[in-house]
Amino acid sequence: MFVSIVRISQLTKKYGDVIAVDNISLEIQEGEIFGLLGPNGAGKTTTINMITGLVSMDRGDIWILGKEIKRSAQEVKRNIGVVPQDIAIYEDLTCLENVMFFASLYGLRGAELKKRAEEALEFTGLLDRAKSFPRDFSGGMKRRLNIACAIAHRPKLIIMDEPTIGIDTQSRSHILQSVKLLNEMGSTIIYTSHYMEEVEEICTRVAIMDHGKIIAEGTQDELKSIVTDKNSVWISVSGGMDKISQSKLKEINGVLSVEIDDGTVKISTSKDVSNLHKIILYFVENDIFYASAVGIGCNTAPAKGSFFCRCDGEFGGDIGLCCRLLCHSGIPLRYS
Ligand code: ATP
Repeated sequence: MFVSIVRISQLTKKYGDVIAVDNISLEIQEGEIFGLLGPNGAGKTTTINMITGLVSMDRGDIWILGKEIKRSAQEVKRNIGVVPQDIAIYEDLTCLENVMFFASLYGLRGAELKKRAEEALEFTGLLDRAKSFPRDFSGGMKRRLNIACAIAHRPKLIIMDEPTIGIDTQSRSHILQSVKLLNEMGSTIIYTSHYMEEVEEICTRVAIMDHGKIIAEGTQDELKSIVTDKNSVWISVSGGMDKISQSKLKEINGVLSVEIDDGTVKISTSKDVSNLHKIILYFVENDIFYASAVGIGCNTAPAKGSFFCRCDGEFGGDIGLCCRLLCHSGIPLRYS
């Protein structure tokens, strides 16, 4: 039987006029490594901060292990370990003192506290540096210590917010292996990233976020089946919506369907026809302004499988780059 460890319903957060998280719903089962993938500003960190109770929600509900966090925040937090995007360690404490400090916040004390802290350091490959101060560490070592501080209390749910930013390949690989191992040892993981290849390597299920919304969700196979049958182009329109003609868009060779959903034009096209530049040109030539264009599709010569790309900007933004990314494929895709 599947046990839901996190359930999110209609979650929304605004900062002034910016809708950071826009009415998202999600369910994460115990034992998953769940990837939250999206470009900078997509709303990943805000979502995580609401799950951990760091940021209040404007609307919606979150349950963790069946408990609503609005009512049982303290109890819920004991079961969570958070690896924040910004490294949160004290440079004037040794590695061991750092881990013991954070683990003590979860109620561990005495010999048990020290034992668990040493285990966490061993797990992250830092036990031999237990008495070192992290101020002289490389970025990768600091990130590993950041993880050790989050896992010593053996949380059921570990949330990692872009834990591999700005580190060397070796540390990155060490961290990805650690994530898999933590999962095998019984923790459910939520892992945010803007690197497609990372979530492909470790995640059992993925949600893709953009502009505060979840634009695709499923297992890797499910996402691949979406993208191997057809290409999808989602264009978020910021002005000139009334000029869009669905029938004219459907006249473009290869376009299979056109749907308009809350300011987003969702176009499905045949993977065998190279027409993405024509779709973008339709918007340009008809003075339809777009806030972003997102392509989810497959490689016409599939080497890497799927790609996902995004380009921002009002009309006059980098359409060339967007088209090139959409039409090209051999690249393991990163966000521009
Ligand atoms: P990144 O990968 O860059 O961290 P993200 O996907 O985590 O991006 P968020 O950090 O959640 O995205 O940001 C979503 C949107 O909310 C962005 O437009 C951001 O500028 C805005 N935002 C986030 N936090 C705040 C804040 N405290 N005050 C105002 N705006 C904010």
